[in-house]
Amino acid sequence: MSGIDNLPPLRDVISRHDLTTKKSLGQNFLLDLNLTMKVARAAGDLTNSTIVEIGPGPGGLTRALLASNASKVIAIERDHRFAGALAEISDAYPGRLEIIQADALDIDYTSLSSFGRSNAPTKIVANLPYNIATPLLINWLSSEPWPPWYQSMTLMFQKEVAQRICANQASKAYGRLAIIAGWRCHLDIAFDVAPAAFVPPPKVMSSVVSLVPKSAILPCELKKLEMITKAAFGQRRKMLRASLRNLGGETLLKNANIDGRLRAEAIGLEDFVNLANLI
Ligand code: SAH
Repeated sequence: MSGIDNLPPLRDVISRHDLTTKKSLGQNFLLDLNLTMKVARAAGDLTNSTIVEIGPGPGGLTRALLASNASKVIAIERDHRFAGALAEISDAYPGRLEIIQADALDIDYTSLSSFGRSNAPTKIVANLPYNIATPLLINWLSSEPWPPWYQSMTLMFQKEVAQRICANQASKAYGRLAIIAGWRCHLDIAFDVAPAAFVPPPKVMSSVVSLVPKSAILPCELKKLEMITKAAFGQRRKMLRASLRNLGGETLLKNANIDGRLRAEAIGLEDFVNLANLI
């Protein structure tokens, strides 16, 4: 028994099912159930919620989510080798764990959330495979309509990516990701996790980020916001009048009341939205 449930310790599960890790699938497991409980707690009260988890692997976080009273966990795992270990968890929590064997990048999440009980809040909680973490996040941040199908996202990233998501204006990490994420969500770095917490340990520090969709966002087309931030930060050392030349340059900046000699990192979300709405 492991302390949070009647299932065996994860190390036993891994050796019994012969689950070696694959680097190509970003497999770095959390085997400390106190830590997976901490990640689950960062997602708030899970009672009556449906959780979408990406990459359950041997199921450490999955078990913490179920032990935290989530009414249902929908876990999407690409690697079929985990099916046996996950079936044991499903047996321990009858009817509450659904495994979808698929690539998380291919899932239609809006149809998925209707699997949950009607009006049950849906939350995304995951220790993400780091090789696809950013495209997954961009996909969820691009959901239409807004507010989206999920109530919150609680996600483990490499610390460097977490810092780019939560970056403040003028900081080195400030760029496209911070603008798109900050436009749509309230952002917070919940806590850092050292490499030694994972098996095998990754090369870098990790952080859990909490993203809660804003109920009202500044009106703007995502495509245009992406276009303007891509141009502005693609040449972030240049003045905006140069980096935005192809999108309207000086005229565009004048119409938006922005000094064309500034660099991208010097202007805030509202200015980017304003620029996007003028192109
Ligand atoms: N949640 C587990 C495992 C995290 S490692 C834990 O915290 O211990 C990342 C997991 O994502 C692995 O199980 C890996 O097989 C899975 N994964 C990698 N790419 C994936 C993809 N495209 N779609 C779904 N799962 C994927």
